[in-house]
Amino acid sequence: MRDTSLNAPRRERELSELADGGRVDLLVVGGGITGTGVALDAASRGLSVVLAEKHDLAFGTSRWSSKLVHGGLRYLASGDVGVAHESAVERGVLMRTTAPHLTRPLPQLVPLLPGTSAWRAALVRAGFLAGDALRLAARTGSTALPGSRRIGAAETLRMAPPVRHERLRGGLLAWDGQLTDDARLVTAVARTAAGHGARVLTRCAAEEVTGLGAVLRDRLGGQTVPVQARAVVNAAGVWADEISPELTLRPSRGTHLVVAAESLPGLAAGLTVPVPGTTNRFVFALPADDGRVHIGLTDEEAPGPVPDVPEAAAHEVDFLLETINTVLTEPLSSADVLDTYSGLRPLLDGGAGGSADLSRSHAVLPGSGGVLNVVGGKLTTYRRMAADAVDAAVRRSGLPAGPCRTERLPLVGADSRARLSRVPAPRRLVGRYGTEATAVLEQAAGDPAATEPVAEGLSVTSAELRFAVRHEGALDVDDLLDRRTRVGVVTRDRAAALPAAREALG
Ligand SMILES: Cc1cc2nc3c(=O)[nH]c(=O)nc-3n(C[C@H](O)[C@H](O)[C@H](O)COP(=O)(O)OP(=O)(O)OC[C@H]3O[C@@H](n4cnc5c(N)ncnc54)[C@H](O)[C@@H]3O)c2cc1C
Repeated sequence: MRDTSLNAPRRERELSELADGGRVDLLVVGGGITGTGVALDAASRGLSVVLAEKHDLAFGTSRWSSKLVHGGLRYLASGDVGVAHESAVERGVLMRTTAPHLTRPLPQLVPLLPGTSAWRAALVRAGFLAGDALRLAARTGSTALPGSRRIGAAETLRMAPPVRHERLRGGLLAWDGQLTDDARLVTAVARTAAGHGARVLTRCAAEEVTGLGAVLRDRLGGQTVPVQARAVVNAAGVWADEISPELTLRPSRGTHLVVAAESLPGLAAGLTVPVPGTTNRFVFALPADDGRVHIGLTDEEAPGPVPDVPEAAAHEVDFLLETINTVLTEPLSSADVLDTYSGLRPLLDGGAGGSADLSRSHAVLPGSGGVLNVVGGKLTTYRRMAADAVDAAVRRSGLPAGPCRTERLPLVGADSRARLSRVPAPRRLVGRYGTEATAVLEQAAGDPAATEPVAEGLSVTSAELRFAVRHEGALDVDDLLDRRTRVGVVTRDRAAALPAAREALG
């Protein structure tokens, strides 16, 4: 692999190379998980690739997910066996080969309280058993992800001490995958693509997009750079219909609350709470990094213009608190909510025939102008989406490429769990940077303060901020605080880290 570092000088150099006569095999529009996945797939097959991202890597939906590496249970429940199996296979690939450093097993616990009837508990248990079968069919062994089981009240309370004690009958426990951070997955995929020669250009909006190229507007320098391409993939997520108007998307918003881990003391599992009055809906409280718990998720129609950064509505906050409180001894209140975040799912509007939820599967749809649109899917299955999109581009445009290689291609920083456990760096850094954790520490250049948190109550260090500027393509404080690190998820933390971010860029 060549140099995987993304930074301002590389961006400048690659933009001026393109301005001198830009002709590539594949132009990818959008730097979320889908676009970066497509860029990696194509570049690793030997194609010349440009990826244009209007804002920053993971600017869109890809940073607002629940950060789960799904085994596909949800899809099985709705009868989508193929999608469920694909999800379970891709979960195994991510956790075993491509990104063991960015993923970990997560126990998920449904507490059995009077609100959950015996009938509903039996339904959940049957679902968990089907999930075990899926996992085995996908060849993910029980050392990687243990099987599901019913546990007693004492064990339930050990894993989830805030759960109500009275009339607790025990719990149902299953394991799934969890990402340390969705935006870091996108950055790792983008850098791995860059290591295979892809030009990854952030702050470059694709305009006048056709099947033969586009004009890239450099939003920093103001110049426009025409790029000719043999094939063009539109991976602009909920903005895809701005590029291909024949797509009619109907976004739906999913909101999470962020609370301090102290608000749910001792929570060591993803608390999974059935939504009263439904059979197949749950609210999750998911332990996250840096002393936070994320509580999600809603599903709200979001008509009208697509905002850059979606915002939660007050009733979503109320719904999430009310549902999670059905199982807690000490109810949470809005005072516990440090912040909220929301993302938009792309639903394809089927006109009179209703809408199709493309967030469950994905589609590669040839557009009228010759552009290939990749819509839907999820973080977990990005690799399969990318392979399908590149296969379609290769077939359609006769590109000189071999078969997909990404199943065995570790992302930058990846290694086996055994070797990761021996990387001489703090575990928190290994969970975010894998084998590169030592390179992050080197950014301190002998200054011990650079490996200390930049402000009280935070975990992020100046060494990480410097690494993001030098190697991860962070161009400004927003990139640093909102995407390379996730300090910005809580507004007051962001303010505390701002001076350090400015200094790292200085
Ligand atoms: C609330 C929620 C929770 C989810 N939870 C999970 C989960 O736990 N696990 C899971 O596997 N999946 C999950 N998903 C699904 C997953 O997050 C999405 O499927 C995925 O992130 C979509 O990625 P994308 O790259 O297609 O879109 P995006 O991430 O939105 O990327 C599109 C990019 O295109 C750029 N762009 C737009 N127009 C242009 C232009 N003209 N030129 C250049 N660039 C442009 C945008 O700036 C943006 O960065 C969740 C989704 C939601 C909404």
